[in-house]
Amino acid sequence: MTATETKVRVIEHPLVQKTLTRLRDLHTPSHEFRALSQRLSYFLVYESMKDLGVRNIGVETPVGPGQGVELTDYIILAPVLRAGLILAEAAQQLFPNVRIYHIGLKRDEETLEARSYYAKLPESLPPDCRVFVLDPMLATGGSSVAALQLFADLGIKGINLVNFVCAPEGIAKVHKHFPDTRITTASIDEKLNEVGYIVPGLGDAGDRIFGT
Ligand code: URA
Repeated sequence: MTATETKVRVIEHPLVQKTLTRLRDLHTPSHEFRALSQRLSYFLVYESMKDLGVRNIGVETPVGPGQGVELTDYIILAPVLRAGLILAEAAQQLFPNVRIYHIGLKRDEETLEARSYYAKLPESLPPDCRVFVLDPMLATGGSSVAALQLFADLGIKGINLVNFVCAPEGIAKVHKHFPDTRITTASIDEKLNEVGYIVPGLGDAGDRIFGT
């Protein structure tokens, strides 16, 4: 396995790939796009969390005592506004008590880098917390690097990114700045086009999810 393969997991499951194919289709209407995005979000969040820590506990079933587990990790979700909300919604249904820190980013017109305009992070976080940055599209990588930087400033490393689709350029940029980042995605696509869209991608995820 190459270093990239250990850091990027492409989920090849047929249900994931079938859902992604429907999302790619330009004829898929917004209401269906949203439902499919939520389904893909469940699959990817579930896969991204496969190595969460657990502790053994006892459980009383209607038939007698049994053994089970409970989660031990301090989990944080960081959806990048606005398209990341769809992933956060799905993740919140899986973990109703999870902490969610929304991150709003916009491009600085002078440096052309993404800058945060909204990120209400606490002053400190447990150093071993598990952070999942949620953004359907990893395109140039600018937003992801800016989001990862916010957590790096708090001393958090080894962050997880969850993306529907990634461009190779975005993966390279993220790993150049934050080599420990683990990425879970349904696809690594071919490239970015001249205006920063992923090719073939699925278009503007936010516009298609929110019908704008
Ligand atoms: N953001 C999107 O929504 N789509 C892309 O292809 C790139 C960035």
